[in-house]
Amino acid sequence: MKLPKGAKLCDWCSGTGKFRDVDSDFGVYLYPAIPICGGCGGIGVQYESKDFKDRVSKICDLRFEYYPTDSLPYGPEGVTRYKALSELVEKVKELVSMYPSLEGSFAKVVEKDFQEYVEILKEGVDENISWLKNTEPKDEVQKVTKDGVIAYYSGNTDEGERLYKEALEKYPESSEINHDLGALTMKFRRNPEAALPYFIRSTELEPKKALHFVQTADTLLLLKKPEEALKFLKESQKQPDYEKEITKKKRIAIAGIIAASQGIEIHNN
Ligand SMILES: [Zn+2]
Repeated sequence: MKLPKGAKLCDWCSGTGKFRDVDSDFGVYLYPAIPICGGCGGIGVQYESKDFKDRVSKICDLRFEYYPTDSLPYGPEGVTRYKALSELVEKVKELVSMYPSLEGSFAKVVEKDFQEYVEILKEGVDENISWLKNTEPKDEVQKVTKDGVIAYYSGNTDEGERLYKEALEKYPESSEINHDLGALTMKFRRNPEAALPYFIRSTELEPKKALHFVQTADTLLLLKKPEEALKFLKESQKQPDYEKEITKKKRIAIAGIIAASQGIEIHNN
């Protein structure tokens, strides 16, 4: 194998540019991870320069933004995937143009074949945004949060969060705004710890909704606090809209958790 000048064979992938982490083969989401090598950015060879290492590390970060390996049971929103993948393809193109790569390495596949997929993801994002823009707010809460929602689903998470916090300052007693900020923090920051206070607050305010209790419980379960989660699940069953708002599948799951907890000592402190 003839290596480009100044390059050494990638010690992660031995030149293929592909590196199959366990999540690529046993992933939890309904779409596959991009098995691009984190040692060479897909080009099959490595260079010593800091510039090269920084570029490869950025490509690797984008790969995990596209397909996170945190413990959340659901994948990121379409816009997050779109942004991560389109940037990843651009960064691979740049890398290929700047650093001679190994013949037939995975970078060439990414460079050529992923563009179409990026376009399809973009169509989904655009459709979503135009739907959000053209939907008339049904109430005051939807009115004050409309721009925030659009910002989030356009991929501007910081701006969306800022607008939501502004709306919350205006309506601190709104259970809806608290709940939505919790849900958006889960979706776009994938951070149960940061989302939890908003969810809890949403269960303390009006209108009380079964969904708010269930999502608080789900967040507590992710944070490995099953005893506290159980309390919220039991409360959710008492809400008048429980049957209507919580799917049958979820109600069965909740009944199962509560049944299984019988006989387990619950500490109420
Ligand atoms: Zn490699």
